[in-house]
Amino acid sequence: MPKSTRRRCDAHLPFREATRDRAIRAGELAKYLRRNRCKNWPIRGSKRCRLHGGFSTGPRTAEGKARTVAAMVEGRRRLLESLKGEGKPVPWGRKRGGVNRSAAERQLAQATKQHARARRDLKALNSLTRRRQRRQAREVVKREVARLLAEHEEERRQLRFPPLSPEQREAVTEGFRRRVAV
Ligand SMILES: [Zn+2]
Repeated sequence: MPKSTRRRCDAHLPFREATRDRAIRAGELAKYLRRNRCKNWPIRGSKRCRLHGGFSTGPRTAEGKARTVAAMVEGRRRLLESLKGEGKPVPWGRKRGGVNRSAAERQLAQATKQHARARRDLKALNSLTRRRQRRQAREVVKREVARLLAEHEEERRQLRFPPLSPEQREAVTEGFRRRVAV
């Protein structure tokens, strides 16, 4: 079944102050405003429900239509004037960001995200717990290598082989280390 394209009335409802204040404290004002809308079905042939102007016909006489247009023009004029007074640019064109991001902006955002992830991973890797774990692992390897070396030297003594020279000893230790570390 295709999803219905029928929309709810969606008119803004008056604020319930306690709810709004709670939303502000939770940092969720935008969510509250988005959800505080009328959920009635609209009147057929209108976008609004019976409580929110669904029966309104809008201006009908030529004079009424002219007043509406005049009010729109006046509102736009006031907006431009106030923007000019504040030295702000007149907004125009597509909105920035979101689906209108350029390829370069997308790439940069992705790289920033990857960088942040890498930083987070590195931080976790260098955390105290991990450092302690690695130190303990190194100790275990060291002890095991020492034990193997002692065993090896004991065997040589029993077989009446000459004791290891310092270089031989180093080579044998390195071999054990490699075996234990795997
Ligand atoms: Zn409504």
